[in-house]
Amino acid sequence: MVIRNKEVVCLFQDKVSELLLRHRSILDTLSKHQESVARVNRAISKTVTGCGCISIHAYKQEIPPGVTLEDCRKYMDPHLDGDLCENCRETIQEEIGNNLFYLAALCHLLNIDLENIYHKEYDKLSALGYFHLL
Ligand SMILES: [Zn+2]
Repeated sequence: MVIRNKEVVCLFQDKVSELLLRHRSILDTLSKHQESVARVNRAISKTVTGCGCISIHAYKQEIPPGVTLEDCRKYMDPHLDGDLCENCRETIQEEIGNNLFYLAALCHLLNIDLENIYHKEYDKLSALGYFHLL
């Protein structure tokens, strides 16, 4: 499974590098990446304000004293009610895909291997566990 994912990330970055025509400039790619992050956030916001399939019910998270780091998640609420409808899910997935395109483009232009980043982050999370949050 890990090897298959490794191949997908590598193939994806290679395909992005092939298709990079209009945004070969780092400045164009930086601004498109920034825009794609905003579009992901906007798509999520529109599920609440436009469609209404999910709603946000936010409040201060209360964690009882003495709770272990591992047990903290039992007391943490995502502040979301409802489930994404198929239309909103598809829109958000498209925007995240667009964001991944420009992330891979940035990596390509800077000669950074995105696959290596995934592996390093995976190893870091595996080694540190919950302590990566501190
Ligand atoms: Zn919806």
